[in-house]
Amino acid sequence: MPEHATAKRWSLQDLLPDPVEQSLQAALADLENKVSALEAQRESLSEDIVTEVFLALLHEYEAISDIMGRLGAYGELWFSEDTHDQAALNMRDRIRATLTEAGNRILFFSLWLKELPDETAERLIASSGDLRYFLETERKFKPHTLSESEEQIINLKDANGIEAMMNLYEMITSKFIYSLEVDGQTKTLTRDQLATYYRHPSPDVRAATYRELYRVYADNSTLLAQMYNHRVRDWKNEGGLRKFEQPISYRNLANDLPDNVVDTLLDVCRRNSAVFQRYFRLKANWIGMEKLRRYDVYAPLAASDKEFAYGDAVEIVLDSFEHFSPRVAQLAGRVFTADHIDAEIRSGKRGGAFCYSVSPPLTPWVFLNYSGKARDVATMAHELGHAVHGMLAADHSPLTFHSSLPLAETASVFAEMMLTDRLLNEESDPAVRRDLLAGAIDDAYATIQRQSFFTIFEKDAHSMISGGARVGDICVAYMDNLREQFGDSLELSDDFKWEWITIPHFYRVPFYTYAYSFGQLLVLALYRQYQQEGDPFVPRYLKLLSYGGSEEPVKVLEEAGFDASSPEFWQGGFDVLSGMIDTLEEL
Ligand SMILES: [Zn+2]
Repeated sequence: MPEHATAKRWSLQDLLPDPVEQSLQAALADLENKVSALEAQRESLSEDIVTEVFLALLHEYEAISDIMGRLGAYGELWFSEDTHDQAALNMRDRIRATLTEAGNRILFFSLWLKELPDETAERLIASSGDLRYFLETERKFKPHTLSESEEQIINLKDANGIEAMMNLYEMITSKFIYSLEVDGQTKTLTRDQLATYYRHPSPDVRAATYRELYRVYADNSTLLAQMYNHRVRDWKNEGGLRKFEQPISYRNLANDLPDNVVDTLLDVCRRNSAVFQRYFRLKANWIGMEKLRRYDVYAPLAASDKEFAYGDAVEIVLDSFEHFSPRVAQLAGRVFTADHIDAEIRSGKRGGAFCYSVSPPLTPWVFLNYSGKARDVATMAHELGHAVHGMLAADHSPLTFHSSLPLAETASVFAEMMLTDRLLNEESDPAVRRDLLAGAIDDAYATIQRQSFFTIFEKDAHSMISGGARVGDICVAYMDNLREQFGDSLELSDDFKWEWITIPHFYRVPFYTYAYSFGQLLVLALYRQYQQEGDPFVPRYLKLLSYGGSEEPVKVLEEAGFDASSPEFWQGGFDVLSGMIDTLEEL
C-alpha cells in the first residue's frame, strides 16, 4: 500500500471544496434559507398538526442539523490541523457564532417536541420511521419534568446554588499545588503533572506521589467533604421532586439503560474481584516485590522499546481488521483513500487523537499524532474502529447515526482487541507478549473495575449521607469498598480513605463512571462470544454497529442477539480477562 507509507495532512475538500470562501458562503446562504423557512412555519406547530406537515418540518430540521454539523466540523478540523493559524482560528470562531445563532433560532422546534401531550407525541412518533428513537430521546425526561415555573426556579437557584458550589470545588482543587522530590530535586507540580508519577519506575517515588496527593486533599477535607454532603443532599431532594426511584436512576435514564441492567453489570464486577487480585499478585512478582502496595498498581513493567514505522502500522492494523472481516478492513481503508487521516506530527497541531464522524454519506475524519510507539498503533486501530462504526451506520439520519454513549466505544475498543490478538499471534518474544497482555489488563482494571467500584461507592455514600452519616463514616465505607476490590492482593494504606474527595466525577456528574465499565466490559463480553462462535459472530457484530444511535442501547444488543440483562453475558468479559491472565502466568 504505497499511498499509506507516510503520514500526511488530511484533506477537508469533502466538507467545503475549493475555493473554500465561496463554498462557505454558499453553505451559509443555504443554512439561512432553511432556518428562515422553518421559522416561518412555527405557527403550524400545534397539537392537531397533520402528520405529513409534521414530517416535512422534521426533515427540514434534520437537513439544518446536517448543514450545521458539516460547518461545525470544518471549523474544528481545520483548527485542529494548526492551532497557530490565525485564519483557521477566525474561521472556527466565525462558524461557531453562526451555529449558536442558528441553533437558538430553531430551538423552538425541539422545545415544542418535548412539551407535546403524550397522545399527540405517540401519533407523530409512530409515523417518524428512522427518526423515532431521536424523538423518543428528546422526550425521555418528560415524566420527570416539573411545571415550567418550577423548572425556572430550579434553574435560577441552581446557578448560584449547587452549580456554583461545584464550580467552587473545581476552583479550590485546581489551585492545589503539590511538591514532590524526584532524583534529589523538589518539584512543584499541578495535579495532572503529579499524576504522571503514579507510573514512575521507583517504588519510593510512587508512594510519595500518592502521599502528597492525599496530604493536600486531607488538609482541605472538612471543606471538600461538606461540599460532597451538599451535592448528595441536593441530588436526593431534586431526584425526589422528579420522582426518580433511586439516586442512580437519573443517570441511567440519561444513558438510556434500564436500572436492572446497570445493577447486573455492577454485581458481576463485584463477583469478579478475584480476577484482578490474581493479576496484582503476578505483577508484584514481575516488579520484584513480595506484595504490591496500592501505590504500585500502575507501576510500569520493563517496557519494550519496539517502534513501528507508519506504513507498517497501517498495514498491521488493516490486516488485523481483514482477519476479522474483509468488510471492516475495506471500510477502514476508505479513510486512507479519501485522504481523511491526518497522522503526521507537526508543530502547531493539536495533541491527542480523535475520530470525527460528520454526516452519514461522508467518510469520517481521523486525527492522530503518530510517533511510532506501540501505543500509537493501538490508537490508530481505536480511531479507525470509530470510523468503521460511523460508516456501518451510514444508512441512518444525521440525527441518529451517532452511537449513544453506552455503545460509543464498542467498535473502537473491539478494534484494539483485534490488533492485540494479531500482535500476540505473531510475537514470539515473551517480554513483548507480556507487555501487550499486561498493558491490556492494566487498562481493563482502570476502566472496568476501578470505575464500577466508584459507582458502587457512590450508591453507598448517597444512601448513607441521606441517612445522616458523617464524614468519618464515609471514609470507612470508602476503605471497605477498596478492601472488597483488592482483598489481600495488595497492601492498602490508610491515606486512601481520602480518595473519594479527589474524584471530580462524584461532584460534577454523580454515577457517571460506570459508563466506562459498561463500554469496556461490553467489548470483552462480545469478544468472548467471538472466541466461542468464530465467524458466525461477525455478521451479528456488524449488525450491532449498523444501528448507530437509532435505537436504545439494550435493544440494539438484543436485536443482534446479546442479552445485556443476563449476568452470564457480562461474565464472558471477565472470562476473557481470566484467559489473558492464564497466559501471563505461563509466560
Ligand atoms: Zn474512543
